[in-house]
Amino acid sequence: GTKLEDELLRIQQILKAAEIDFVLYGNAKLNNTPLLVENVLSMCLKEAVTNVVKHSQATRCSVLIKQKPEEVLVQVQDDGIGFEGNKKQQGNGLAGMRERLEFVNGSVDIQTMDGTTLNIRVPNVIL
Ligand code: ATP
Ligand code: MG
Repeated sequence: GTKLEDELLRIQQILKAAEIDFVLYGNAKLNNTPLLVENVLSMCLKEAVTNVVKHSQATRCSVLIKQKPEEVLVQVQDDGIGFEGNKKQQGNGLAGMRERLEFVNGSVDIQTMDGTTLNIRVPNVIL
């Protein structure tokens, strides 16, 4: 599996190659998060950033990692064209993300206004 810190190094390289400015808010070192959850978050981060590079035409991408007592939030934001002009395309990335998140009771919501924001959430306690 992949730690979030390792995935962050990789996405920074990918964004740099695509000439998209990157900003990280928060700490990628997760405390008390099960490895399975961390693996799922890493996979989601990778797919979200791959989508930014492939689809968004953004100049800037930020990642926020917020550890709360009850959940971990990974937010991926871009300043690109949003989903509107892209509606007809069908892929597996977002569906795969939702599928994996289901295993750990997580969720992803997508806001598309002034670019795209993905909020990926996983609870700290998996019941
Ligand atoms: P795959 O992930 O299977 O390689 P894909 O990237 O096209 O293919 P999804 O990741 O499911 O598929 O994304 C579905 C569609 O949502 C994309 O084709 C694109 O039109 C749109 N999309 C996803 N992320 C963004 C983004 N950051 N900005 C603009 N459009 C996006
Ligand atoms: Mg994709």
